Amino acid sequence: MALGRKSIPKYVKEKLRSEVGFGCPIKGCGNPYLEYHHFDPPVHIKPHNDPKGMIALCAQHHKKADGGAYTIEQLHALKKDKTHAALVKGNLDWLRKDLLAVVGGNFYYNTLKVITIDGIDLVFFERDEKGYLRLNVNMLSLEPEDRLIIKNSSWENIGSPLDLRSPPQGKELEVRYDNGDSLYLRFIDLVSLAQAIERYETDIFRDIPFPITAVEVNMTVAGTNIELTPSHSRIGGFKTSGSLISNCGSGFLIKNTGVLWRQNPVFKLKKLVLGINKSKPVNINVQ
Ligand SMILES: [Zn+2]
Repeated sequence: MALGRKSIPKYVKEKLRSEVGFGCPIKGCGNPYLEYHHFDPPVHIKPHNDPKGMIALCAQHHKKADGGAYTIEQLHALKKDKTHAALVKGNLDWLRKDLLAVVGGNFYYNTLKVITIDGIDLVFFERDEKGYLRLNVNMLSLEPEDRLIIKNSSWENIGSPLDLRSPPQGKELEVRYDNGDSLYLRFIDLVSLAQAIERYETDIFRDIPFPITAVEVNMTVAGTNIELTPSHSRIGGFKTSGSLISNCGSGFLIKNTGVLWRQNPVFKLKKLVLGINKSKPVNINVQ
């Protein structure tokens, strides 16, 4: 970053991501790990954060743009190109054999199925052949629209989000839709119990081994009373926070809500649930 230049405002980044359909607009790319390139004018001529003269590009194509590979006219045309939205997908990496899942303000350790509602697994893990825990997330929605799917730590099927934020370091993923549905996740290395206590203001996880990597997952299903926020989980009449569920087959299991879930074409969900191990679910007591 050039000396003296202000950091790029959030709304500018959001606008630039949206312009290119949340994927790098260079032909055949679609990489969602986006950076922000100043080209009209270039920052060495005049520092600015004017979205009209900026474009979202992946790291590789950002370097090429810095090297002069694309003309100003080409970059202005690429700013209007959303055709790569269909290619947008990513991998979470962060493969670990041990994870602390922090979902909606509760802690899950050695618990593969975190939350299941009406037979749909919202958040769960599968171990791959190398023993790594792979994250799976299905968003619920009252809208008959595509919602992001994370299958074995790879994500795709973003639909038409209001915003999708996938910073190049790969620690975070955030997607928001215009009806209010949202998903946010981030990975964080907890080097010590003390660090975890400071972050979460509890020591309920004191008996699990540290250091450990945490994956935090929060989700809102608009128009329902299902919300998984950093401070609590609210599902139907339950509100819980700060609980530890460890060494269980299943965390939350909610059945027969009577809600007609409409996210994603049904065939996609069927394909997803067929791949899941049928471990016996256990209801937990919630306070
Ligand atoms: Zn690219």
